[in-house]
Amino acid sequence: MIWDELEPGLARLAADGLQRRRRTLDSPCGPTAVVDGRSRVAFCSNDYLGLAHHPAIVAAAQTAAARWGVGSGASHVVSGHLRPHAELEERLAAFVGRERALYFTTGYMANLAIAPALLERNDAIFADKLNHASLIDAALLARAEHLRYPHCDVDALASRLQRSQARRKLILTDAVFSMDGDLAPLPELFELAERYDAWLVVDDAHGFGVLGPGGQGSIAHCGLPPSPRLILMGTLGKAAGVSGAFVAGDQRVIEWLMQRARPYIFTTASSPMIAAALLASLELIAAGDERRAHLRHLIARWQAGSRDLPWQALPSATAIQPLVIGGNDAAVSLAERLWAHGLWVPAIRPPTVPVGSARLRITLSAAHSAAQVDSLITALHACARDERA
Ligand SMILES: *Cc1c(COP(=O)(O)O)cnc(C)c1O
Repeated sequence: MIWDELEPGLARLAADGLQRRRRTLDSPCGPTAVVDGRSRVAFCSNDYLGLAHHPAIVAAAQTAAARWGVGSGASHVVSGHLRPHAELEERLAAFVGRERALYFTTGYMANLAIAPALLERNDAIFADKLNHASLIDAALLARAEHLRYPHCDVDALASRLQRSQARRKLILTDAVFSMDGDLAPLPELFELAERYDAWLVVDDAHGFGVLGPGGQGSIAHCGLPPSPRLILMGTLGKAAGVSGAFVAGDQRVIEWLMQRARPYIFTTASSPMIAAALLASLELIAAGDERRAHLRHLIARWQAGSRDLPWQALPSATAIQPLVIGGNDAAVSLAERLWAHGLWVPAIRPPTVPVGSARLRITLSAAHSAAQVDSLITALHACARDERA
């Protein structure tokens, strides 16, 4: 039967240590999570500023639900584009200093929208090897040539661009890499985009709200100019604490996406309540210097405390602080020992990261206390001692 391969396939995933397991939380997203009736300190979420459960955002959503209802009822291009969506797009564009912004239901969909709308066969995408899965899928969907360059290797990218005969070129990169926490060389990438007349599409899922003046993100952090060729994608389910994403850029680019991008056109607009929640979130992000300073303090504290662990803490200046363990089973077993210590840290395995580099992906949030970060450091040292014994 057609389903006969599934059971052996699932058994293989389990045998390879690649089975994914979901845990059901009985608490909102925050620095502690209640699972199976017990509380754990969680270093899993991408809620970098601790806004996911902020009372002002909750209140904005409640008020908007009463005023605008819950469902939008149609896609944006039919009748689902309500006043909160329109206001949100205006505020997002102003926030990142670009001409116009388009709001999407998820970041995955926003990424699937951009490259396929701008490219055709005989065009080429130049993508960092460690790009997020949604950017890889976008390249597949675009049907253009997909050239992947070694992680952050500007020289390799330059020679690929130079050799390319493609009619249109598009450079595609994460700004902050989601499993390593490092920053793409954005000024160099921009310069190459200028030199080879390419689009530069930057996915700022992990920089928006966290980096740059006022949390404007990685582009502002690196001081890139607002060129028409520079297209910014930001997600709103991470530091912004809600859900959705936006693409911001030149007026013509955004109009083209609105006219042509299938993941924009052929889906129901997200709830106006979400747009209203995001308007409240944007205000908190703009006024969030204290949250960002506390987050930076926690990052420094973790880095000092993790220095002499027997595992490699990657040099990341962002909220994503990976600890590379190596094998899948070793990473999972360490995560299980931390769980027994009352700590929840996710083990990330292939294909999300390269084979042999399974890791703990520790994410810090402004909602964590210094004591909670210390408890993680102490537990990891205890695990390291157990391993040596
Ligand atoms: C999370 C993430 C996305 C997807 O965004 P969602 O809003 O969660 O769909 C895209 N790109 C990167 C780099 C991400 O980390």
